[in-house]
Amino acid sequence: MIDIHAHLCFPEFDNDRDKVIEKCKEELTAVIVGTARYEECVDALHLCEKHKGFLFPTLGFHPTEKTGHKKVIELIKQRKDDIVGIGEVGLDYHWEKDEYRQRDQIEVFKKFISLAEKLKKPLVIHSWDAEQQAFEMVKDVGVRVVFHSFSGKKELVAEMLKYDNIYISFSTQILFSKNHKKLAKIVPLNRMLLETDSPFLSPNKEHDRRNYPWNIKLSALKIAKLKGVPVENVLESAKENAISVFKLKGLKP
Ligand SMILES: [Zn+2]
Repeated sequence: MIDIHAHLCFPEFDNDRDKVIEKCKEELTAVIVGTARYEECVDALHLCEKHKGFLFPTLGFHPTEKTGHKKVIELIKQRKDDIVGIGEVGLDYHWEKDEYRQRDQIEVFKKFISLAEKLKKPLVIHSWDAEQQAFEMVKDVGVRVVFHSFSGKKELVAEMLKYDNIYISFSTQILFSKNHKKLAKIVPLNRMLLETDSPFLSPNKEHDRRNYPWNIKLSALKIAKLKGVPVENVLESAKENAISVFKLKGLKP
């Protein structure tokens, strides 16, 4: 199992990070550590260095962040050989309704897209309530593109699947969202990835507010049921896709 997007450097894990990673190592083949701001990027590089071959970083800048993208871009350039992708980056029109600020998001996103093309790194995209716009911006790029925790409409997904470079990543939201269940039915296994977005999107909030990378198993079970295939097939193909999209060194598909 590979979780392709977990924020293991978030403060929610400050008290027991080592323990959580230890359990991840028991259950998973690898975890890709996603980031959303400069400080988190720096922390993720350290953490992934410490757990080389198991944790892999993608460096990014969340669209709702107001300042700091230039520092992240510099860091990506400096550490290009230590990262497996760029993200999360993208657009967020859910939290940002102001048209001028949305335009700023587009400008910053464009910079990350051209950087990804230049460095030949896959993009991990955040696109809440801006799925169509984000798709238009990346459909013809020369790198692979992962729509993380995708929540768009199924008509849009059908269009997106026509582009070979695009992958849809399913979060643990599939356990409590009708729309995600619909999407899982139409996305073929060879274009599907699994993630938790830990510590967010806990599948069992009353019991534990945090989410953990091993919870992708629960999503895989749900997807297997929806598609009528064995759960092993879902986990295996998601793992193969992750290794191939992020070119995870030392791991064989
Ligand atoms: Zn995230």
